[in-house]
Amino acid sequence: MTEHAPDLPELSAYLDGELDAAAKQRVATHLAACPRCTASLAQLQALSADFRVLPGDSLGFDLAGVIEGRLAGAPRRPTERGERRERDWWLRLPVAVGAAASIAAGVFMGSALVSGGGATAPRMTAMRVFDTMPPGNLCIGLESCYVKGSLK
Ligand SMILES: [Zn+2]
Repeated sequence: MTEHAPDLPELSAYLDGELDAAAKQRVATHLAACPRCTASLAQLQALSADFRVLPGDSLGFDLAGVIEGRLAGAPRRPTERGERRERDWWLRLPVAVGAAASIAAGVFMGSALVSGGGATAPRMTAMRVFDTMPPGNLCIGLESCYVKGSLK
């Protein structure tokens, strides 16, 4: 017995010819050495043969024609739907206004980002307070932050 044991769905697919060449070869190799899987395959073959022997049920008439006839005879209300669609157009007006406002705000903010380079300069100046070198480091204007005299 080899290391790979095909499970029941794989055996069924092997029986139905649905496996690719590599999987089919792998299952066939395993079946040649494994009597248990060979017995399972024989049971599947017997089951498949039993299903083929079962009589097929048929209605004796075309069910699609009956369904189409009933659908054609079913009461429809297309005019009522059309009237309602035309009558309730104003219910969708807030959605349209909101969408237009959202697009306008997006265009405005996008153009402000692209054209306004001045928005980043003040922020960079403010961030110098946190620099690790003396002009920054929260020491703007404090005498103690600056080196006095000469370094010897
Ligand atoms: Zn096996």
